[in-house]
Amino acid sequence: MTSSPTGLFIDGERVEPSTGRYFSTTNPATEGSIAEVALGDSRDIERAVAAARRAFDKGSWPGLSPTARRDILLRMASLLEERTEEFAVLETTDTGKPIAHTRSRDLPFAVELLRYYAGWADKIHGTTLPLDQAGLGYTLREPVGVVAAITPWNSPLVLSLMKIAPALAAGNVVVHKPASWTPLTAYRFAELALEAGLPPGALNVVTGPGSTAGSALVAHAQVDKVSFTGETTTGKQIMCDGAGSMKRVSLELGGKSPNIVFADAADLDTAAGFAARGFCTNQGQICWAGSRLFVEEAVHARFVDKLVERVRADWRIGDPMHASTSMGPVISGTHRDRVEEFIEEGRKEGADMVLGGKRPDMRGFFVQPTVFDNASNRMKIAREEIFGPVLTVIPFTDVDDLVAQANDTCYGLVAGLWTTDITRAHRLARVLRAGSIWINTYGPQGAAVPFGGVKQSGLGRELGQEVLQLYTETKSVWVNLG
Ligand code: NAD
Repeated sequence: MTSSPTGLFIDGERVEPSTGRYFSTTNPATEGSIAEVALGDSRDIERAVAAARRAFDKGSWPGLSPTARRDILLRMASLLEERTEEFAVLETTDTGKPIAHTRSRDLPFAVELLRYYAGWADKIHGTTLPLDQAGLGYTLREPVGVVAAITPWNSPLVLSLMKIAPALAAGNVVVHKPASWTPLTAYRFAELALEAGLPPGALNVVTGPGSTAGSALVAHAQVDKVSFTGETTTGKQIMCDGAGSMKRVSLELGGKSPNIVFADAADLDTAAGFAARGFCTNQGQICWAGSRLFVEEAVHARFVDKLVERVRADWRIGDPMHASTSMGPVISGTHRDRVEEFIEEGRKEGADMVLGGKRPDMRGFFVQPTVFDNASNRMKIAREEIFGPVLTVIPFTDVDDLVAQANDTCYGLVAGLWTTDITRAHRLARVLRAGSIWINTYGPQGAAVPFGGVKQSGLGRELGQEVLQLYTETKSVWVNLG
């Protein structure tokens, strides 16, 4: 258990929730309690939005010079970098994600996001426009205002900073509603931001259920924009709830991404390593999981053998706090039950289970990495997002049929492909319906590269310069010079 209850963070202070109630969070690796977390409700959303509104309308954050905002974001980055170990431990305790991953990937990327968007703070500008009559026309890029950042539990810090860093860089203020299961880094980051010089009210954190605190935030008339990452069904609800006040809404949602291996791939061993990583990273609880693996028939049997070998060698289940562990538990007992139901469904549908499938005999919500071979794209395990370490392998022979199958999904987040045929690679990059295409790699991340989905995987793009469109409004100004 952490030493003190974690109150809400509003207007630069820890405050008690209006309900006066707290709920326990659980360490998924031990099933023991971690912390008592404030049960916020619509009254707390009211307080947090009012604080954010004041910070925005009085200009304590948007009124600072762009270079002052840049410097504060850079200070946040440096403080976070200094506290890598503290944040990595919190994140691993909350999520069950191996410490090796939080230390070496999540924290450095979180720091990089702050530095990258700090760099944009003084480079967001409008343009001057050619006019037919005597006059001056120009545009201003202004912050949208109060941004609601609503985030999931699978990569809490990184996914939050993908919203908070660009929103602040563009001069917005934020009310953050983290997932109830994993709120600890959100609180600590809000405190760190204050220490770095962010004015009170510019970043507020309210914990509580999505159905009450989350929906009150989305419906609030004084919130200008909602930036959401989570399940597709929740995203649809948010679109409806935000419509009343015509909120700007951007959504990063689920996926069922195809990873395609052609027989001419340069190195099947490398491709097998990435295919394993594509469904084992974070126990498969990743939106970009390559959970449908299409393998060309000519190499199919050989490739599946290599893949199984790699999973056995590289992805060992264990205590996520040990530096050598590569697979931790899934987030909760309920989620493990759900993943196990999918495994059962795969068996019943007649796919060949070539690896895993059993519950490890140990404390914690662990699931063995599980591979189903000779599956079809019609099976439930190929159609629904499992969000666990379960891979569905589908052999193919004909490229047109492959493309049709790869696109035959309601999702469109990413697609991976492995081939040495450069023409085919670029042709497929055009016809595969996804927000990102990964050629001869799987799962690269970069602050400068836009990320997001087509179809029911989302709306809008995060990362890169592109996300700044989501956090700014363009204002046109005409001056009569006649
Ligand atoms: P979720 O939709 O259950 O919850 C996400 C957040 O929304 C939580 O903070 C939750 O409390 C809140 N919420 C729930 N109902 C709400 C409502 N009616 N109004 C407002 N807020 C509400 O998702 P999850 O289970 O936490 O996360 C897993 C999902 O996130 C997966 O589907 C995964 O693919 C997706 N995801 C997508 C990306 C991406 O970039 N596309 C990244 C990570 C995760």
